[in-house]
Amino acid sequence: MALGFLKNGREAGRSARGDAGSDAGAARPERVAVLGEVEELGVGLFWATDAEGNLSFLSRRALEELGEDAASLIGRPLTQVFFDAESEGGTPAQRSLGFKLKAKSKLEDQVVAVPDGRGATRWWRLSGRPLFGEDGAFCGYRGTALDITAQFAYEMQVARASQVDELTGLANRRKLGQRLSAMLAAFRVSQRSCALMMLDLDRFKQVNDTMGHLAGDELLKQVAQRLTAIVGDQGEVGRLGGDEFQVLLPDMDDRGSLGELANRIVQSLSQPYQINGRRAIIGTSVGIAIAPYDGLEADELTRAADMALYSAKETRGGTFCFFTSELRDAATRSAMIGERLRDAVDNGELKLVYQPLVDPETNLVKGFEALLRWHDAQEGDISPAQFIPVAENDDLILRIGEAALRQACTDALAWPEHIQVAVNVSAKQFVRPGYRKAVAAALAASGLPPGRLELEITESVFVGDQETVDAIFRDLKKLGVRLALDDFGTGYSSLGYLKHGHFHKIKIDQSFVRGCTENGDTNPAIITAIVALAKALGMETVAEGVEAMDELELVRQRGADLVQGYIYSRPMTQDEVLACFAEGAGLFRPSGPPRHRSERISIFRKIGLIHEDHYYEVILRNLSKTGARITGLAGVPVGTDVVLDLGHGQLVVSKVVNATEASQGLKFETPLISDGSGGFMTRHRISPYALAEAGIPLAALGHGAFPLAKWREAHKSPPRFIQLDLSAPGA
Ligand code: C2E
Ligand code: MG
Ligand code: MG
Repeated sequence: MALGFLKNGREAGRSARGDAGSDAGAARPERVAVLGEVEELGVGLFWATDAEGNLSFLSRRALEELGEDAASLIGRPLTQVFFDAESEGGTPAQRSLGFKLKAKSKLEDQVVAVPDGRGATRWWRLSGRPLFGEDGAFCGYRGTALDITAQFAYEMQVARASQVDELTGLANRRKLGQRLSAMLAAFRVSQRSCALMMLDLDRFKQVNDTMGHLAGDELLKQVAQRLTAIVGDQGEVGRLGGDEFQVLLPDMDDRGSLGELANRIVQSLSQPYQINGRRAIIGTSVGIAIAPYDGLEADELTRAADMALYSAKETRGGTFCFFTSELRDAATRSAMIGERLRDAVDNGELKLVYQPLVDPETNLVKGFEALLRWHDAQEGDISPAQFIPVAENDDLILRIGEAALRQACTDALAWPEHIQVAVNVSAKQFVRPGYRKAVAAALAASGLPPGRLELEITESVFVGDQETVDAIFRDLKKLGVRLALDDFGTGYSSLGYLKHGHFHKIKIDQSFVRGCTENGDTNPAIITAIVALAKALGMETVAEGVEAMDELELVRQRGADLVQGYIYSRPMTQDEVLACFAEGAGLFRPSGPPRHRSERISIFRKIGLIHEDHYYEVILRNLSKTGARITGLAGVPVGTDVVLDLGHGQLVVSKVVNATEASQGLKFETPLISDGSGGFMTRHRISPYALAEAGIPLAALGHGAFPLAKWREAHKSPPRFIQLDLSAPGA
């Protein structure tokens, strides 16, 4: 029996792992027969793609439904065969098909439009999953589809008539889309700005799965109420569908206030929810894009906000992120990491280093934290903060986590008996069934007494169902290992779980410690409060990320039991740890700058500098919130007022405060703000309309006849400073 049309069927079957792969490969006749039977029963249609995302298989019924020419669809990109419901006039509650395919995420009830070759559109509900070969390489999707044309047409009619999301009473996707398009069109004429926030709840699915759909619905209602209360009359809140919300904020382009608003939203939505007498904790991630800077049209702006949201979720969830052009580059990098990581694990390229935790009263080491290191031949050192989230996307995290655990236990056995080892555990790994077994196995294999092993867990394990999490904690406690709460204060910040007495130790996050001695900081008060709370509950405290002597003094005075940071030591290799014990009892002398200095980021980036009528090119050597150092110009006197052009409309009025022959230190008139991911940005940007006038048009605006640009070209007065050759070494 011929079952549909199959391209490269054998290969697809061989390269894919697991049963589903063999199904689609249709290599075995009995499977094919079963598939045919199933299809005849009307249960569903079947489809598959190759690794490039091209349709490689459609089952027979599917071909019949789509008419004579359907066979010609084989080999076409999936997004050219199936179209997002929205672009066909529907009202979907979903992310775009293209987005999901790119992210290689599972498709669950994705509603798509399929032109049937007879001039009509069919509506299919797709499900499918990505397949990976033994070598970790992506080999395509396999999936099923249900024809829901009749039902969907009816739903669409109902939705068209309504602009309200029935569950929450908020504006629905259709209304939001119309509002955004209309607003952007009007604002383009009057050159006003408008911000778009995209929200996606973290771990909503867990609540839905463990507590039921009714509880999920109730949770969404409460989320809608909290959101509306915070946004108030500043903007319009809507629900796109599922666990996605959107906020439209007209005339908002101050990234400082937008960041504050996003932060309030994140904080509020991550407070616990009371649902039918049970407690649930979720989080949210927020992506922000601003018109006209990040996009002029609705779809462009939406894509930008989506990319920012994706990045916020990737970093760690429970946070917000602004769209920047670097985001596109970062997306490429994380795809690269995804491709190489599996090989790196197979080839043993991941190593552990150990950073001491020191008693600040005696300077004696009490334990070490194991930290992963990956040196890639091409990319150089890749931080665990970058590759752990990538590994968490699939089962790789389990392999990495287990290997790290075993290695750390083995290494620790060679240390003196009173020295502990701490190992980081990803929340995804922690909640998997079988985690307790893996820990027990690592202890047994190494012979390390359980009391010497400490597991570092972040607050993100507390989302979702509390009972499951509690059970895991009980199991681990029975084993006799110690538990530490890592990065305390950055996550869901609900103190409830501390009372259960799961933890032996709280690690105060670096963000409270770094810069805690700067004037007017509330951080010292927070540190004091955390220490007091920990003492009352019988837990130890660790101050993380101590770099300067004044910070060490402060956390010691406030009663932190242990200190971990560059002030004592950077992470060291196992050989260095052993050498340190061979020499003595493990004494670490603090050494570092006397005072905290506001964070500087070393970068070597070409930027612009405007002085009088001239536009110079300079190199940015380092950048802090309040100033920068540049090279590339000679003869610039101290006291000169200049404007730095950091790109994308970010102009910074600055003064030269010190200068050598070829380098100048600048102080900014207004400090920069944090971009939420370790960098800095200006609060406001110069509108692309104004930039276009000055001859730097945004691609979307096109190159018009911009008077200022012409004027600039024609301007002849001599430059005041000497422009050095930026390609010369040392410039
Ligand atoms: P973490 O558990 O909070 O680890 C502390 C991080 O702060 C480490 O970065 C450490 O090198 C850094 N650090 C320590 N003292 C200072 C200081 O004085 N100044 C500064 N600027 N940084 C300091 P690292 O090694 O890049 O690790 C980043 C994160 O990656 C860790 O944060 C942890 O969440 C994760 N990670 C590392 N190893 C593993 C692992 O084996 N498994 C899992 N699941 N996650 C890991
Ligand atoms: Mg840690
Ligand atoms: Mg930490």
